[in-house]
Amino acid sequence: MQIVHGKTGWIEDICCPMFSGKSEELIKRLRRAQIAKRRVQIFKHGSDVRYDATNIVSHSQQTIASRAVTDVRRILELVDDRTELVAIDEAQFFSNDIIDVTNTLANRGKRVIVAGLELDFMGVPFGPMPQLLCCAEYVTKQLAICMTCGDPANFSQRLTQATEQVVVGAADVYEARCRLHFEPPCEETPEDSDSHLAGSTKDNPGTHNQVRG
Ligand SMILES: [Zn+2]
Repeated sequence: MQIVHGKTGWIEDICCPMFSGKSEELIKRLRRAQIAKRRVQIFKHGSDVRYDATNIVSHSQQTIASRAVTDVRRILELVDDRTELVAIDEAQFFSNDIIDVTNTLANRGKRVIVAGLELDFMGVPFGPMPQLLCCAEYVTKQLAICMTCGDPANFSQRLTQATEQVVVGAADVYEARCRLHFEPPCEETPEDSDSHLAGSTKDNPGTHNQVRG
């Protein structure tokens, strides 16, 4: 991404499905800022305890230190005036106050990077993500790979029966799916759910496109 540096702040949004390298992309930008000796503060939502309570950790085990908060407004109190870059991971878990918080920080001249999941397990825009996308100067969208057919995947398929919007997990709970193979959970009978879950594991490779190499 080519960014002209001036006195103005801005917002970068990294919005992706699970397993698309979102955290790797975030960590890459933060490392480069640290190499450039920028003053960086990193936050993530307190509910994301998949790998580490205070670090941002990617699925491939890259890691960078962060501070966990649950009330996004707390970030305004915690950000030092001298800080040049503020990063917020797992943005989808925060309240809509995150829009005001990120705009306020950018208006103060800071580079703000927000990373989050665009769609929830139903395939519906997740929390404040749509508004964040509209407010951002720069948007990066990466797709994952469908675990059924190998095509680009924009959806996170939940593999369990849980119906809460937030179920934190990784490969044990979710997998990436394309539009064709994404099956949002319906309020049908358990038999229906069982059969569709079983269908994802007993696929005959001969009936689908080959995985692209
Ligand atoms: Zn597919």
